Amino acid sequence: MIKVAINGYGTIGKRVADAVAAQMDMKIVGVSKTKPSFEAYVAKKRGYPLYIADMAKKGAFTKVGLEVAGSVDDMLKIADVVVDATPGGVGKQNKSLYEKIGLKAIFQGGEDHEVAGFSFCSDCNYAGAIGRQFVRVVSCNTTGLCRIINLVDSAFGVERVRSVMVRRGSDPGEVKKGPIDAVVLDPVSIPSHHGPDVITVLPHIQITTMAMIVPTTFMHMHAVQMDCKREASREELVRRIEEHSRIGLVRSGTGIKSTAELKEYALDLGRPRGDLWESCVFADSIAVLGKEVYFFQAIHQEADVVVENVDAIRAMSGTVKDPATSIRMTNEAMHLSAL
Ligand code: NAD
Repeated sequence: MIKVAINGYGTIGKRVADAVAAQMDMKIVGVSKTKPSFEAYVAKKRGYPLYIADMAKKGAFTKVGLEVAGSVDDMLKIADVVVDATPGGVGKQNKSLYEKIGLKAIFQGGEDHEVAGFSFCSDCNYAGAIGRQFVRVVSCNTTGLCRIINLVDSAFGVERVRSVMVRRGSDPGEVKKGPIDAVVLDPVSIPSHHGPDVITVLPHIQITTMAMIVPTTFMHMHAVQMDCKREASREELVRRIEEHSRIGLVRSGTGIKSTAELKEYALDLGRPRGDLWESCVFADSIAVLGKEVYFFQAIHQEADVVVENVDAIRAMSGTVKDPATSIRMTNEAMHLSAL
């Protein structure tokens, strides 16, 4: 059993905790919070021992019925791997805690590549993470881009990628974020950071990205165009997407043309929290013109990186050396069957 601690039990941390708890070869030894919240009550209900960053705040937890198992330092001592899911930038500060005790740590996409020195996507570079002390699971957008670029690259060779990302303004529970009535260029200058981030995983890919933020909380939408090295085939591309366990095809028969309908579909399927761990490529949008490939894909920002974190834990622990085996184990435990 790989003993896993979750430092930062928020949007990503709570999902990774449930995903880890569902695996046969892993267990949660603790999760951490900075202050009492509804999520801390959920952790208690799930039976995850609750640790806190600042022991001076213990009284605030116990007063509202939340038992504290100890400090974050105590939690780290009993773990084999920590998943740091604290807000962007905090992971970098936490790194010294992990270094001090030689603990394996996974950072998230809000940290720079340099914090871990290795940026991870299960499909693309699982083998490179085997036995590493530090790994960074790339952001939701980068994960979505890496999965499909890697697939098209293996089918037809990718010469160049251009992608426009329409990003959600906040996660559904974030009441203080926006915009509520604007389209915000993110940033005004081109490229956005997403292209360079893809290169941390797939260094041979030429990619330019542009991004904007819109008033929605559900998902991101990517409009992607790729120039291939060889003549591409729509039939072959659709077949490969159908075979891919973490890229779902949104078929025309479903009538889905929006992120809102996709989210509703996920809820109807009974997915926990309505999570879509797979990238969602709109089948009718796939167009192939000679060597050029076009499509739209929707990315559930809160979900796609969750399964990647589970694979990263296995790779770093060195218990499963074959990426396909880890991906299958993770998917099966979470009942992930493509859309
Ligand atoms: P979040 O704010 O929802 O959760 C972070 C949690 O960490 C909170 O519970 C907070 O109380 C806790 N925390 C803060 N400081 C802490 C500390 N010093 N020690 C322990 N816990 C602490 O953030 P999130 O959205 O889950 O993002 C976490 C990371 O995942 C970031 O790097 C982010 O960029 C990345 N990420 C987020 C999303 C997304 O859509 N939310 C998608 C992909 C990657």
